[in-house]
Amino acid sequence: MSLTLTVDGERWRSHLRAVAAQTRGLVPVAKGNGYGFGLGRLARKTQWLADQGLLGADPVLAVGTYAELPEVATRYDGPLLVLTPWRPFGPGLELDPAVADRVIHTVSRPEDLRDLLARDPRARFVLELVTSMRRHGLSARQLRHAGIELADRPGTRLGGVALHLPLGTGSHLAEMERLLTDVVAAGLATTTVWVSHLTPAKLDRLRAAYPDLTFRPRIGTGLWLGDRGALRVTATVLDVHPLERGDHYGYRQRSAPRSGHLVVVSGGTAHGIGLEAPMGDASLRSRAATLARGGLDAAGLVRSPYLVGGKQRLFAEPPHMQASMLFLPQGAPVPAVGDEIELEVRYTATWFDSVVLA
Ligand SMILES: *Cc1c(COP(=O)(O)O)cnc(C)c1O
Repeated sequence: MSLTLTVDGERWRSHLRAVAAQTRGLVPVAKGNGYGFGLGRLARKTQWLADQGLLGADPVLAVGTYAELPEVATRYDGPLLVLTPWRPFGPGLELDPAVADRVIHTVSRPEDLRDLLARDPRARFVLELVTSMRRHGLSARQLRHAGIELADRPGTRLGGVALHLPLGTGSHLAEMERLLTDVVAAGLATTTVWVSHLTPAKLDRLRAAYPDLTFRPRIGTGLWLGDRGALRVTATVLDVHPLERGDHYGYRQRSAPRSGHLVVVSGGTAHGIGLEAPMGDASLRSRAATLARGGLDAAGLVRSPYLVGGKQRLFAEPPHMQASMLFLPQGAPVPAVGDEIELEVRYTATWFDSVVLA
């Protein structure tokens, strides 16, 4: 009755171990919907990797926000890096005292550095340097000034400089070299650089070029979702109704463009099941051609992520909150109520009813 993520546990765990073994300084990232697995499970798996010594001498788990800390803090017992920068408002000010000393804050503005240290001189933190992402971060100049301020404050717990790069663009190495020049020039009392979205080859080159720096790659997708073959997503067929051309159905009382079947499956907007781009290419010319052929997309039906008979099927109407209606044209194999059918989803945007480790 549900939208299920089935994980080949053996295969998934060996992938996790392999990534950890190959990625020196790996910092697992657990945020959002826990990449489909749930934050708690990722925290337990991080503990499991750390217990085997696969996360090195200084294991760290990164979370996206302060709000995510409680869910991971009881399942993983090491330091917790919060990726969203600290601000003088919000949940970063109300940390559970039992967890506070394990938290590593990200500081991205000069005023926040002063404010955080005024509130808690023993706070652990990293300084974020802005990259071409332009999301958060100090400028190179602000980083140098932070270096000067921190030099006057012995006892502060600076844990490195954080850089957040855009997804693979090819220009990473040149940008990294510029950024690392800024890091070195800031004269900070740290040699650790936290990075994201670098290929293993680029990381190797940086390590060779900057042997004095310690790189800590933060990885979520490539770790948790790096072996898609270990993962299977299924929905349950909840109902099947034959349709004649012209029959009305659904919230919107559309009429069936052809005869076929209406298939009601589990999974809806509450799970993150959404409308995808219309079928095929969207150029006017191809749309005119589809219209001329009387294609189903011309009838206003759009592609769903559900597969029946090996083919991606059309939504009969936009997904409902917990179920979706698919249109199967005459001639397509008709599943039975209770059958499981596969679907393709974005794991980071899907909330599964159950995650089964098989
Ligand atoms: C989400 C995130 C990551 C991990 O990104 P993936 O693409 O899932 O590997 C790394 N660093 C920061 C700052 C992030 O927000």
